[in-house]
Amino acid sequence: MRIAVLSGKGGTGKTTVAASLALVTTNSQYIDCDVEEPNGFLYLKPEFSRSSEVKVRVPLIDESICTHCGACARICQFNALAVTPNRVLTFPELCHHCGACSLVCEAGAITEVDRRIGVIEADAVGFAVQGRLDVGEPVGIPILDDLKIWIEPGRTAILDCPPGASCAVVHSLEDCDFAILVTEPTPFGLHDLKIAAELVKTMGIPAGIVLNKAGKDNSIIETFCTEQNLPILLKIPYSRQIATDYSNGILPVQASSEWAYLFGELAAKLPGLAQGVKA
Ligand code: SF4
Ligand code: SF4
Repeated sequence: MRIAVLSGKGGTGKTTVAASLALVTTNSQYIDCDVEEPNGFLYLKPEFSRSSEVKVRVPLIDESICTHCGACARICQFNALAVTPNRVLTFPELCHHCGACSLVCEAGAITEVDRRIGVIEADAVGFAVQGRLDVGEPVGIPILDDLKIWIEPGRTAILDCPPGASCAVVHSLEDCDFAILVTEPTPFGLHDLKIAAELVKTMGIPAGIVLNKAGKDNSIIETFCTEQNLPILLKIPYSRQIATDYSNGILPVQASSEWAYLFGELAAKLPGLAQGVKA
């Protein structure tokens, strides 16, 4: 069972929901897919004892046999190669690892070599797993591919997706059984919720809503959810106490038994999790 937690923008409480859900669910894994800025560890405080480098294959040019024909630069859709009369310039951070350049090089001057772009880190029991993109690297998709290898069959994986609706979010959502869309009752929240809802609908993934920072009037979100037949699974009130705890690295489920109970109720509403909530 894979549950994705996403939001159309950052700062809506996505990590609060994902990490809390992982804590109240039995035999779960918290998978931090926000590889540009993983932050679930701030709240779950795991001891990362295992790690694995994420590497991609990039071209290496043998100038001694290169004829400077230019074919590699012409086939590259990402401007990761430039051919001058006497040298091939490579820009490995732009490479998308498609392998096309080495296929078209008739001189056989291109080999592919490993290049590190980030790391996967996990605690000893595989409860907390995060991907982390190295500073300066622009493309985190290969890290998401490697992260999914760490999801163990038979366990419930809670995927904390990147914010927005980018390729990285689409990639995180693939193979998920259910999506929780976290939003807040503001015009910005509605705007981004519409994008996220359209995305999961297009991908055919059933979804429900967690409404964070709920106030007296939440009709801006409730009306949309009614129109779209999206159930509101949980409302988290706008609360100074929750915000203070959060800024101190404490999740609502860690601060109060009431919130542990309410998140347990949320988990019980998710497909396949009714029997998987901690007492
Ligand atoms: S395709 Fe091969 S031979 Fe031609 S410029 Fe590129 S590396 Fe050199
Ligand atoms: S592997 Fe693909 S993306 Fe990378 S340099 Fe070669 S053609 Fe460009």
